[in-house]
Amino acid sequence: MEQYAGVIVDVRAEAVNRIFQYRIPGSLRDKLEIGHRVLVPFGRRKLEGYVVQLSSELEVEQDKLKELLDLLDPDPIILPSLVELARWMGETYVGLFSEALQYMLPPAFRYGKERVGAKTAQTVTLLVQNPKLRKNAAAQKRVVEILQKKQTLLAADLIAQADTSRSTLRALEEQGIIALGTAVIERKVEWDQVPDQKVTLTAEQKSAVETIQRELEGEGRPVLLHGVTGSGKTEVYLNVIADVIKQGKQAIVLVPEIALTPQTVSRFAARFGDRISVLHSGLSLGERFDQWWKTYRGEVDVVIGARSAVFAPTRCLGLIVLDEEHETTYKQEEGSIRYHARDVAIKRCELEGAQAVLGSATPALESYHKALQGDYLLAELTHRVEERPLPQVQVVDMRAEFERGNRSIFSTELKRALEKLTVTGNQAIILLNRRGFSRFVLCRECGEVIGCPNCQVSLTYHREDDRLHCHYCLHREVLPKSCPKCASRFLRQFGVGTEQVQEALTREFPELKSLRLDADTTRRKGAHASILRRFAQGQAQILVGTQMVAKGFDFPNVTLVGVLSADLSLNFPDIRSPERTFQLLTQVAGRSGRGEKKGEVIIQSYDPSHFAVRAAQNHDYLEFYRREIGFRRQLGYPPFRQLTRILCSGPQQAAEEAARQIHACLLSQGFPGQDVFGPAPAPIGRIQGRYRWQILLKSDGPPSARLRQLPPTDDQVLVTIDIDPIYML
Ligand code: ADP
Ligand code: ZN
Ligand code: ZN
Repeated sequence: MEQYAGVIVDVRAEAVNRIFQYRIPGSLRDKLEIGHRVLVPFGRRKLEGYVVQLSSELEVEQDKLKELLDLLDPDPIILPSLVELARWMGETYVGLFSEALQYMLPPAFRYGKERVGAKTAQTVTLLVQNPKLRKNAAAQKRVVEILQKKQTLLAADLIAQADTSRSTLRALEEQGIIALGTAVIERKVEWDQVPDQKVTLTAEQKSAVETIQRELEGEGRPVLLHGVTGSGKTEVYLNVIADVIKQGKQAIVLVPEIALTPQTVSRFAARFGDRISVLHSGLSLGERFDQWWKTYRGEVDVVIGARSAVFAPTRCLGLIVLDEEHETTYKQEEGSIRYHARDVAIKRCELEGAQAVLGSATPALESYHKALQGDYLLAELTHRVEERPLPQVQVVDMRAEFERGNRSIFSTELKRALEKLTVTGNQAIILLNRRGFSRFVLCRECGEVIGCPNCQVSLTYHREDDRLHCHYCLHREVLPKSCPKCASRFLRQFGVGTEQVQEALTREFPELKSLRLDADTTRRKGAHASILRRFAQGQAQILVGTQMVAKGFDFPNVTLVGVLSADLSLNFPDIRSPERTFQLLTQVAGRSGRGEKKGEVIIQSYDPSHFAVRAAQNHDYLEFYRREIGFRRQLGYPPFRQLTRILCSGPQQAAEEAARQIHACLLSQGFPGQDVFGPAPAPIGRIQGRYRWQILLKSDGPPSARLRQLPPTDDQVLVTIDIDPIYML
């Protein structure tokens, strides 16, 4: 029976967001497969597209059917299971199928444009084994001698080894002694070499490994591995992966942001050798391109990467691990398809018969809820390895400190603990949940906060250039001498930044050397890894930084963790603020006492009785979960009801008008009035001069299909639909 090719054209437009059928020419009949890139006639144009369906059922009239023109690559560039995954993403996240397909392509491909290719280099091959050379041709002799041992070498290497120049090679080529050619060379990704630690699994680890293996062979439900910090979750992953590899399958390991956890790659490389590939945004496009193709060609067993590595082209997938599954970096915050890597991973595993493992010391409320419901299987590691105790956590009330006359940013307790370091030589991590030298500039007379002229946010003072910065539009300006509103000269910088903390440390504890880890010190490529390496080598005793210092590091000499202000993140206009605060405090506390020495944690707070702070103090995830899930149930928030945010941004009137139109449309589609919130200005009402209006929608189950029929709005307005949003600013 004749088959027809269903094609998604490679154009970013809602109008062509459907499958077009084409006749397959005889010459391609045996070759064409799902996932092939093809050229098709489209109106009067020729367009590139992807084959997403082969079917004998014709959905257009015979005489309207056109013939597919050509194949663009010999092999399908997208694996069939990933075509299915893209289809699911387009539907679930109310986006374009073609845009979902872009995620499945090699890193350099975007809507038909290929921005880099394989890297090639000149090679030299010896043709005449024992050539006769002129007597004084010493350089030529050296070149031939080297080639006699190797036969083919990269020209650049050969020139370096023979200490000569290109002209020597040209001379040899002219005599027919060597041949010049080209070879594809891999842009290698480097990581620190560490020895593989062979450990005997604890009883809990063994049981977790068995649970995952049993599920892998059985029902295949996702496993939630809830393990306290330092309980050896990574070791569990490594063991399960070894098993997957033995079966001839591949594993994908997702981590929140690889550039932040270079240690992870090293640990995997130590166990699995060279058959790993690494995919993340810290690499150059060329490096990512090579890593992707290595995976596509089946040269790797384990792919380690950030969010988008969930789409790695592994042909025989056995396992996807999502480490630190609660992290917000797993959510895509750009483009029309705002996917969550956790949900995509689970869907991909379902499509390919693979096993998903979600690991965390502080699982997302949604995940733990699913585990309790039986949608996921729960495996727990309740103890740290080697019977190491969890660190003692002390919460200091900063209001009382202030009353006692302590104006320092360090409480008496924290000072005592830092003092101790000068004797013991141990290390400490100090967390400040902020960025920049000082958060904002406030007029003490009229209360005016200096804001960005383009965005509705306050500007941040940076010391390096003595300017105020906007972190949204990158606007910069000099610090005004007087208040722009009331002309008062009493402008004051409020809040503390990492730089200021470091300065205070140096002032109060001159013998303690510190390193700073934040957005400013890590801007340069490789800076992040280098700071961590120096800290690991003991070149400094204190690591000061923002959230970045809370990530999954393992520094055995760290015995003290100090949190300067626990509550800052509690005052964010976001339903997930308590959860984020609890996670951050627990994660950073978990960096203390991971080695043989006992650890302690000091949390400074202006609201010490808050349940998120208390639960973190007691290492009590369940207590936190019970409190928070109660609020969510009461208010009808996820995981009980689904949340969707529709954001309209553009010129003031147009954005507002669009939001009103959409709002009316939702009501007419039968969404009950009490479930549609807004339209209202977003918490950040303006970014880069564009006004932002939003509508929030609560629904039981996915609203996706109905959101397809939103009315067309003004061309200047960008409408973004965010299903399960995690930020609502
Ligand atoms: P987590 O990811 O749960 O915070 P890790 O997997 O990083 O914990 O493990 C913490 C440390 O304990 C690592 O240095 C690891 O090598 C070590 N470790 C893990 N499992 C064991 C074990 N069974 N016996 C001894 N040490 C272990
Ligand atoms: Zn003023
Ligand atoms: Zn701005």
